[in-house]
Amino acid sequence: MNLSLENRTYVIMGVANKRSIAWGIAQSLSKAGARLIFTYAGERLEKNVRELAETLERSDSLVLPCDITNDDEIKSTFEKIKGEVGVIHGLAHCIAFANTDELKGEYLNTTRDGFLLAHNISSYSLTAVAKEARGLMIEGGSIVTLTYLGGERVLQNYNVMGVAKASLDASVKYLASDLGKDGIRVNAISAGPIRTLAAKGIGDFNSILKQIEEKSPLRRTTTPEEVGDTALFLMSDLSRGITGETIHVDSGYSILGN
Ligand code: NAD
Repeated sequence: MNLSLENRTYVIMGVANKRSIAWGIAQSLSKAGARLIFTYAGERLEKNVRELAETLERSDSLVLPCDITNDDEIKSTFEKIKGEVGVIHGLAHCIAFANTDELKGEYLNTTRDGFLLAHNISSYSLTAVAKEARGLMIEGGSIVTLTYLGGERVLQNYNVMGVAKASLDASVKYLASDLGKDGIRVNAISAGPIRTLAAKGIGDFNSILKQIEEKSPLRRTTTPEEVGDTALFLMSDLSRGITGETIHVDSGYSILGN
């Protein structure tokens, strides 16, 4: 039993640029020998993702569009993947979105549309892709999503995204229960704050990072590479007994009482 992912194929959803946590995961899986299939949202990101994919050791990555709000597009993306590779062994879901103006001030001001948007993209999307991915994971597999402490506790400004992460965390458990009989595991990584495009939308993000540096047990912020290596463990057979779990990769910040 080892960390090698030779002869395995994984779908990575949510690379926007080189700072994306999804890219940290892609690099870890690629170094372990995996073949990767990237999906991106919107033509604007295609060039970024293709250029990044070309820097990997293996030159056989696929890059496909997949807007997670569109069921037909999700279906056709997984049909294309099936046509190209037949079988996949895992999927990294690294997708979230909420209106920036609802990531500051009081949660109480969340609009119905903003609430539904955040939940649609950040939570339901995991269920939507798991449904399509199941048919391609005929040898069993591992699904990993990214969550945040703001789904477990009230963190200033995280607001509707925290409520969406709580929904995502519950989905992980229900999906793990449904898919376990097919040999498919479903887990979440709760990453500490990392400066990415998505994080830019969260009010006062710099002071959140400062607090982690000052107070977390490891006295430093989390890196995409650290999250990537934990995803590698969750994708590999070394984690074969783990499902429905959330692993915190956050310099230990989540253990603190204040
Ligand atoms: P990012 O901006 O690099 O990635 C977010 C991705 O979501 C982008 O690639 C974007 O294109 C994609 N996306 C948004 N709407 C989409 C749609 N309709 N269809 C398909 N894709 C869509 O930022 P990130 O921080 O790497 O975020 C990845 C995940 O990590 C998110 O779930 C985020 O909540 C989570 N996370 C981030 C942090 C952090 O501090 N950065 C901490 C914990 C968890």
